[in-house]
Amino acid sequence: MSRRTALFVSPHLDDVAFSCGGLAALLADAGWHTVLATVFTRSVVPADGFALACQLDKGLPAHADYMALRRQEDADAAAALSVASLRWLDLPEAPHRGYGSAQALFGAVHEDDRVSGRVQAALRGLRDECVPDLVLAPQALGNHVDHQVVVAAVQRVFPGGTIAYYRDTPYAIRQPDAAPLACVPAGAVRLVGIAAGLPRKLRAATAYVSQVGFQFGGVDACAAALSGFALAEGQGVAAERFLGAALPV
Ligand SMILES: [Zn+2]
Repeated sequence: MSRRTALFVSPHLDDVAFSCGGLAALLADAGWHTVLATVFTRSVVPADGFALACQLDKGLPAHADYMALRRQEDADAAAALSVASLRWLDLPEAPHRGYGSAQALFGAVHEDDRVSGRVQAALRGLRDECVPDLVLAPQALGNHVDHQVVVAAVQRVFPGGTIAYYRDTPYAIRQPDAAPLACVPAGAVRLVGIAAGLPRKLRAATAYVSQVGFQFGGVDACAAALSGFALAEGQGVAAERFLGAALPV
């Protein structure tokens, strides 16, 4: 039998590791070819306005290539998860597309935001090249516009029966009962025990050094929060929860 392929679609450089890094590690263990594709990875130098503020509040100087640093972190995380193929789809994050405040980032997708077509085109290219048996996409818990765009684009490009939806973390930690985006199919919750993959998930998550301070309060706090959340998801057994397609581990 030919090797099966799982495509993990991450809006930003960190979402997959934080949300379903355990599943990625376990599928690699099981012999799957794992592809990690992050959508919004483009360097915009120099940043200005709200985008610059998002960089400065992570402690980075104004002239730094913030996304280059984050892509290097992503490469370190991917190595920890034994990702077979790492892709950056080179589209600009929301602060570079006219979303000018934290409130705007978690609001409605702007009518004049044309990025969705470009996300779909990039995903079609990946689909034709990788022919994934399984696609992992976010539920858009927390409602970040980039996550909303990614869910909708994945649904346009891949057959529904191949898509499993992960719980966007750390949003899911802050709001465990948050509802998925309306277009995410309701149905059976897929619980995946990740105890065997948890140490690698934590290693991958804490590789995003520029993000863990802002998102969790530091490297140690990140590991503690993700461990605690995994136990809460599995009610005492480390787990990740999904909707959609059945999972093979
Ligand atoms: Zn994100």
